[in-house]
Amino acid sequence: MPKTHYELIILGGGPAGLTAGLYAARARLDHLLIEKGATGGQVLNTHWVDNYPGFPDGISGYDLMEKMAAQAARFEMNSIIREVVRVELPEHGPKIIGLDDGSRLTCDSLIICSGARANSCGAPGETKLLGKGVSYCGTCDGPFFRGLHVVVVGGGNTAAQEADHLTKFAEKVTLIHRRDSLRATKVVQEKALANPKIGFIWNSRVSAIFGDKEVEAVEVTGNDGAVSRLAAQGVFVFIGITPNNAGLPLDRLKADENGFIPVDVESCTCVPGVMAAGDICAKETRQIINACGDAAVAVLSAERYLMNLERTP
Ligand SMILES: Cc1cc2nc3c(=O)[nH]c(=O)nc-3n(C[C@H](O)[C@H](O)[C@H](O)COP(=O)(O)OP(=O)(O)OC[C@H]3O[C@@H](n4cnc5c(N)ncnc54)[C@H](O)[C@@H]3O)c2cc1C
Repeated sequence: MPKTHYELIILGGGPAGLTAGLYAARARLDHLLIEKGATGGQVLNTHWVDNYPGFPDGISGYDLMEKMAAQAARFEMNSIIREVVRVELPEHGPKIIGLDDGSRLTCDSLIICSGARANSCGAPGETKLLGKGVSYCGTCDGPFFRGLHVVVVGGGNTAAQEADHLTKFAEKVTLIHRRDSLRATKVVQEKALANPKIGFIWNSRVSAIFGDKEVEAVEVTGNDGAVSRLAAQGVFVFIGITPNNAGLPLDRLKADENGFIPVDVESCTCVPGVMAAGDICAKETRQIINACGDAAVAVLSAERYLMNLERTP
């Protein structure tokens, strides 16, 4: 009979999941990490990471995740490649995890590390030039654009704040928004509008991104149909992120209006024995380092929960 019950199941194998896997394996918890694709998560699409400590010369996203996976494997992290399609969290008894092959696992505690994905603007060239001038993270990639011209797509808080942040590096930032004004809060708007290094193109969208090996220009289409071409070396898209929450009981987890899961400082959700870590959590900052930090805390919380569970008659 294949094993179907675990003390701890970890949903997702990005930075948060692999850190949870490392901690769980080192703590010798009876655990299983379930990842639907290649382990590594969003970082696999990140060309270069300069802000993860321990790598003074930076490291490629792929190499960083390979190292995280190898470190977890050294402690015999137990993992499978399967998609979790349903999670049930009954008031009493084990948590139930439904997999895409129709099978069902149960666990005493669960750490949700299913991450999120940046919304794309859908312009031709966006996917091809991802990591080659196209980015979804100003904090991560801004320093690569020193002295260059970058385009920011979006008009909400993130777009306005990141445009402001990018002026620390870029010579010029052009924010392109489909409306005639920013949707950001007043104070954020004022700061962006007053920044002399930010130019605005209103009532328009980026309809194509051009470049052979790297971004060279964007095509801008106005709401009136006028088309123009703008030379730029970077395109930062800030039109929201979508949590990977399919199959999760969002009401039970009291997910926020955007589908992200609130956690406390111990990475615990409102459901006993269920923790969440990384980009799936309701929070402002989504970086590799805090995904890993959340996950380490989550496993320690899981251990405490399991110990108390053993003591409960
Ligand atoms: C282009 C880009 C560049 C970035 N650059 C940097 C950077 O330089 N520095 C930095 O600190 N941060 C960077 N970030 C942010 C960083 O990638 C994220 O904060 C980090 O990956 C979050 O880790 P995570 O484990 O929470 O989620 P993810 O990396 O999203 O991993 C989640 C994993 O869960 C899996 N999963 C989801 N649903 C299921 C399911 N139902 N069943 C099974 N598996 C599932 C997914 O396949 C995925 O592998 C960047 C992000 C992007 C998009």
